[in-house]
Amino acid sequence: MLEKKLENIIKKNRHLIKEGHVADYIPALSKVDPNYIGISISDIDGNIYKAGDYNTKFTIQSISKIIGLMLALKDNGEDYYFSKVGCEPTDEPFNTLYKMDLKNQKPANPMINSGAIITTSLIKGNKEEKFNRIIEFIRLIAENPGITYNEEVYLSEKYTGDKNRAIAYLMKSKGLLEGEVEDILDTYFKQCSIEVTAVDLAKIGLFIARRCPLDLEGRIENERMAAIVTAIMTTCGMYDFSGQYAATVGIPSKSGVGGGILATIPNKLGIGVFSPALDKFGNSIAGYGIMKDLSRELNLNIF
Ligand code: GLN
Repeated sequence: MLEKKLENIIKKNRHLIKEGHVADYIPALSKVDPNYIGISISDIDGNIYKAGDYNTKFTIQSISKIIGLMLALKDNGEDYYFSKVGCEPTDEPFNTLYKMDLKNQKPANPMINSGAIITTSLIKGNKEEKFNRIIEFIRLIAENPGITYNEEVYLSEKYTGDKNRAIAYLMKSKGLLEGEVEDILDTYFKQCSIEVTAVDLAKIGLFIARRCPLDLEGRIENERMAAIVTAIMTTCGMYDFSGQYAATVGIPSKSGVGGGILATIPNKLGIGVFSPALDKFGNSIAGYGIMKDLSRELNLNIF
């Protein structure tokens, strides 16, 4: 029943793919077939529903920012963490460095690249330890020990990621970022190249929806961490489209330029969507259409 509905939603939104483009500023991503489209939903009891290319792997990209945020909150506690990264939405694109340069301002929020790079720097450990903790955490909460990263995408971004390099060195020059810049960037690029499926994203969404029910050590309670992550996904998760997305979809979500969208509905559902053609904000164009329909047809708007 639900899977039939998901198939119909895919059918209805497939035409949007033509209006988008796969990310090509990371050269390896330009090779991805734009025609993939898949959904998975995981309900509070752990039942999984899926349709389309739910089993196709893609790179997690910016969706890793919520994983980094959870670890950095655990390692540092919320007061220290938010002394380094802001908690406000921005109408600037995800790879902006404009305000930091103009006003020496800390990054607006953890969902834009500047905030995410600082977040990665705040995760405890050297560069190998940081990355291992990130990927192990993803494996744990996606309940998928087979998750790995895509070496080609990682190296492609590492060799061409000059904008992120500029952001990181600018932050270092202003005293906003501490540590070895190239090491931090290396971990950031690698965390973005971790490969997941729509089912993995739905399970991560469910973990947050269930208020992070694991015995996780750290300086913040799981419930509180889930509340912060969900709030920041709502206000900042879709970049400079987050307001319109909240008004039209009304589900806390985070997108990545690999074409994924992870969504979470507190105490109810986790959702993973994948379709790699993007709109001008860097969000999956068919993914947005799918989320709008899911919200309407399943009555999921939290507002
Ligand atoms: N790795 C990408 C970058 O830093 C992630 C961006 C994204 O998914 N929006 O540019």
